[in-house]
Amino acid sequence: MGVVADAATNVRCLIVGAGPAGYTAAVYAARAMLHPVVIRGLTPGGQLTITADVENYPGFAEVIQGPWLMDQMAAQAAHVGARLIDDIVVAADLSRRPFRLTCDSGAQWLAETLIIATGAQAKWLGLESERRFQGLGVSACATCDGFFYRGKDVVVVGGGNTAVEEALFLTRFAASVTVVHRRDEFRAERILQDRLFAHPKITVMWNQAVDEILGAADGAGVTGLRLRDTRDGSYREIACDGVFIAIGHAPASEVFAGQLETRAGGYLAVRPGTVSTAINGVFAAGDVADDVYRQAVTAAGMGCMAALEAARLLAEEDHLRAHHPITHAEAAQIGAW
Ligand code: NAP
Repeated sequence: MGVVADAATNVRCLIVGAGPAGYTAAVYAARAMLHPVVIRGLTPGGQLTITADVENYPGFAEVIQGPWLMDQMAAQAAHVGARLIDDIVVAADLSRRPFRLTCDSGAQWLAETLIIATGAQAKWLGLESERRFQGLGVSACATCDGFFYRGKDVVVVGGGNTAVEEALFLTRFAASVTVVHRRDEFRAERILQDRLFAHPKITVMWNQAVDEILGAADGAGVTGLRLRDTRDGSYREIACDGVFIAIGHAPASEVFAGQLETRAGGYLAVRPGTVSTAINGVFAAGDVADDVYRQAVTAAGMGCMAALEAARLLAEEDHLRAHHPITHAEAAQIGAW
């Protein structure tokens, strides 16, 4: 009987995810001659591809567009030699090095080091009516769907930066924007709040939770919301044509669940102040590991750290192998915590 050939491709550094963390890791890893491969996932460019104006990414005096910024990062990563692959990681075996990752296309990768930069996705309220009206008046992306609400009345749910930015963005199209928030203060940055409060098209409804999304049974879509007052539990209904859910993000860590330690909310655990997971050679960078800062620039910084750490580990192992041949098991001890 013939031996079945293992069609897996060996790489020194595999990067999963193509947001600011993944692309920055790719740039640094490529310049460290690790010949990185980036598996870009479902949304190459990540969350910034559904963001319009970006005015807090350093280096640009003018407001820039999120999708444009991500195109630039992709082009830069490719320019320095990273291979960008459009595929989705569906399984990972991190039990030994090299780590084995399997993609949706069937492709298999054997990675000496792995940088997980899979980011985070928008969270939903979890109501049955929310699912029923998705695409029929319920959205989690004003930049994608705002255009359809020209002259309409819309609601934004949430009280963070995303909610306030989405509300401001929607004023370009909608006749009115109502922000529904479950508490009596926002957690969004002051400058964004000031813009929101000053906008004549925007009203805020404090201390209100969405109990139900109301709509026509004939598929015509959303017609309003039933709200529950979070102070006294009373209900009221308001009319609207669309509702944008902007209540935060959940990390895309499922494919690694059970193999890497996670923290509350599913964020991958890293050693404080580093991007090192408990598995030697596996690093986590950006929103998949960061529930505190969650900025494009901090994700990029973490991607840089991860690539530098991967390069350092591989260089140490190469050095040891050259001077005293070691097994992978021994190599796995280097830098372990
Ligand atoms: P966030 O800061 O976590 O805010 C989520 C908001 O949704 C909070 O106000 C929260 O209410 C509310 N919420 C959560 N679950 C809810 C539920 N089940 N029902 C009703 N309301 C709910 O998330 P984000 O606004 O998406 O921002 C995520 C991160 O990205 C933050 O670090 C943010 O600063 C950053 N970001 C930055 C920019 C920028 O700098 N321009 C833009 C967008 C996002 P409570 O306040 O009551 O908890």
